[in-house]
Amino acid sequence: MQTASLVVSLLLGLVQATFITNDTSTLNGSYEYIIVGGGTTGLAVANRLSVNHTVLVIERGPDAMDNEVVNDPFMPFGTWVLYPSPCFNTMDAPPQVGSNGSRLLPLTHGSCLGGGSSINAMMGSRPTFAGMNALEALGNPGWGWNDFLPFMQKSETFAPPTAEQRADGADYIAVVHGFEGPVGVSFATPFVAPTMQNAAINTSENVYGVSLSPDLGTGFSGGHVAHYYHHIHFNETLQADRRSSSAWSYLYPLAQQRPGLTVLTEHIVSSVITRPESDGNITATGVFVQPTAGGQNSLFNSTREVVVSAGALYSPAVLQRSGIGNATFLKSLGITPVLDLPGVGANFQDQILLTKVSFPLAPSANTTNVTAGDKVLLGVVVAHPTAIDAFGPNGTDIIEAALLNSSAEFALSVGGVVNAESFSAQASLMANAYRIDHPIIELFYTPGSKGLEAWSQSILPLSRGTVRINTTDPSVDPVVNTHFLTVDIDVQIALRMARGIAQAALTPPFSDLIAIDALAESGVPGPDATDEEVKDWVLATYMPGIHFVGSNSMMPQELGGVVCPELLIYGTTNLRVADASIVPMSIFPHTTLGLYGVGEKAADMILNGQK
Ligand SMILES: Cc1cc2nc3c(=O)[nH]c(=O)nc-3n(C[C@H](O)[C@H](O)[C@H](O)COP(=O)(O)OP(=O)(O)OC[C@H]3O[C@@H](n4cnc5c(N)ncnc54)[C@H](O)[C@@H]3O)c2cc1C
Repeated sequence: MQTASLVVSLLLGLVQATFITNDTSTLNGSYEYIIVGGGTTGLAVANRLSVNHTVLVIERGPDAMDNEVVNDPFMPFGTWVLYPSPCFNTMDAPPQVGSNGSRLLPLTHGSCLGGGSSINAMMGSRPTFAGMNALEALGNPGWGWNDFLPFMQKSETFAPPTAEQRADGADYIAVVHGFEGPVGVSFATPFVAPTMQNAAINTSENVYGVSLSPDLGTGFSGGHVAHYYHHIHFNETLQADRRSSSAWSYLYPLAQQRPGLTVLTEHIVSSVITRPESDGNITATGVFVQPTAGGQNSLFNSTREVVVSAGALYSPAVLQRSGIGNATFLKSLGITPVLDLPGVGANFQDQILLTKVSFPLAPSANTTNVTAGDKVLLGVVVAHPTAIDAFGPNGTDIIEAALLNSSAEFALSVGGVVNAESFSAQASLMANAYRIDHPIIELFYTPGSKGLEAWSQSILPLSRGTVRINTTDPSVDPVVNTHFLTVDIDVQIALRMARGIAQAALTPPFSDLIAIDALAESGVPGPDATDEEVKDWVLATYMPGIHFVGSNSMMPQELGGVVCPELLIYGTTNLRVADASIVPMSIFPHTTLGLYGVGEKAADMILNGQK
């Protein structure tokens, strides 16, 4: 990457480049648009707005442009101690009911230019037709699959599989992809471990009865298994795959240079400044900023809009510090409310992940094409069973009944939803989505350097938590009460996930590749374990899926919505949110490619709505 960035730097000398700095003294006082957070979605919005406007992005973390731990997509995932990433950041969710009441759950997130996209596992996943239509039916016209697909396509340059990758099993459906956008999406070059991948596909077919899909990005993805593509691209100069982070897609490349774009790193937006209008709305006029390391505060004015893109963990905190949120709660912290919006920080959710499951190789397995050697890329094969695939022929009825009978009581008592109607509206839309073909579970396989891994995550949880600040100090993380697994149907799905992993370990041809006692070695409860034993294992070992969403949900205000379908915060004239916090239900099996669609759509709506 050094070579690549040197070339970029030399070429940048010849064009009017985007200005990236960590020094406020070099900046103007006023910009047309200000974007809070230079992460996944924020940089996509900034790129499009800055074609013809002045834009200031303020990012809490550093610029990690040349960092090889960030840019090499094959760095072993999650080995932050061995390979420290400048983007790594984490906070602990306090122990709570759904974590056996005893475990701190790490909420890992990216904090640097590119945000989560600079540290994530790059698994290239899209929402489904059923999921997007559920989002639209929640009161969000214009967000159904057919309306949303063009924005995902706009963000993407999909690299069709090469002849060699095709021979190994990769495929795609051209009509759903984009070929001119900033974000590179491709299969790994060369394919990581074809023998293991094809075994994983056959085993998933045997375990769940799912069928091989040429492409999981078509929207009709329930009940399928596929070779998975990632947000990576092949760099011809380096002859190697590279991470397609938001920064390396929308910010650094030569073609994306914008003289109107300024990026301030290593600074935190403490609050958005607003003024009241005569009609009761408020208008954002700028932001207060402080150095991440502490120091002098600065103020920057915006003449058009402020877009908050600090992610699902931090965007609610920025709003709460700005006096936007539950008025009673804000007053308890001594903050004067400017907008009483109880949904800010509510409806927080995440998928749960059964992770760290590694199966030692069978002594007979020829490691060529089975392990990935030193290269590790997470989730090269993904299975998406539906409710029927996972729970049997009556699966949809079972899940529907469980969802519709779920009680909102706990979520209401902890502030996870603002009213019972919000909970039941979401439960009912989820049931509908499952009835169409929405996947209920994800099982994904990774060829590690020594063993093979099969992990599983839930997709559409119903448990709801909260994000709330407990001080006005912007350098202090908000308190995130996750309340995962506090609705019984989420627990039942988690048990089925664990059972699916065990079955995969025992089902040929995948089982032929791992040691005979691999399941016992892994710690995953075997087929004879009781539901109670499986539940104990799940509660003791599960991790957050790190696809946090929902904490400033896009839905009607009476259901606890924070933003309208144009992503404007209710009661404001020009303050929007564009990031994972607006997604009201976890309809993105993994979030990133969908969030680029959100960023593209946000920019499109802002530019089309300009006066
Ligand atoms: C370890 C990990 C693995 C993942 N794996 C995958 C995967 O394989 N596939 C997938 O699709 N998704 C994956 N995800 C999820 C995905 O990366 C995130 O959901 C996504 O990046 C979130 O995008 P965002 O725009 O909402 O926020 P972010 O990308 O988090 O951007 C928010 C930015 O705002 C900055 N910020 C926060 N507060 C402030 C403030 N007050 N002032 C200024 N800046 C601020 C942050 O530093 C951050 O850079 C993973 C995430 C993690 C953490």
